[in-house]
Amino acid sequence: MSFALSDEVINAAKKGLGYELYKALLLTYGKRGEKAFFYLKERRIKKYKDFFVVVGNYEYIVDGNFCTCMDFQFNLKAKKPCAHIIAVKLARIMKIYDSYDIFYSDFIAHNT
Ligand SMILES: [Zn+2]
Repeated sequence: MSFALSDEVINAAKKGLGYELYKALLLTYGKRGEKAFFYLKERRIKKYKDFFVVVGNYEYIVDGNFCTCMDFQFNLKAKKPCAHIIAVKLARIMKIYDSYDIFYSDFIAHNT
């Protein structure tokens, strides 16, 4: 399953983190799109060597078209992108993320 962003969202993203992108996300993805916008605005996306992580109430691991959050797995049944997947796709296009030169899986292993 691939959750490619619509052309409208991609074109708006190329113009930056402004109202046009907010509107495109809200119209395309509803409240999940709105959430994705705020994750970007608040720089809550981290890029590790193995995964992207979005910091919400918890840290959610996004691996391509998969996310560890409950919304994705239970409400969306992995058939539509959650706010975290949308945010990571945009973060990659817009280069809005903080990079860490470590493996997130190591980080978890040493902190549990
Ligand atoms: Zn998610």
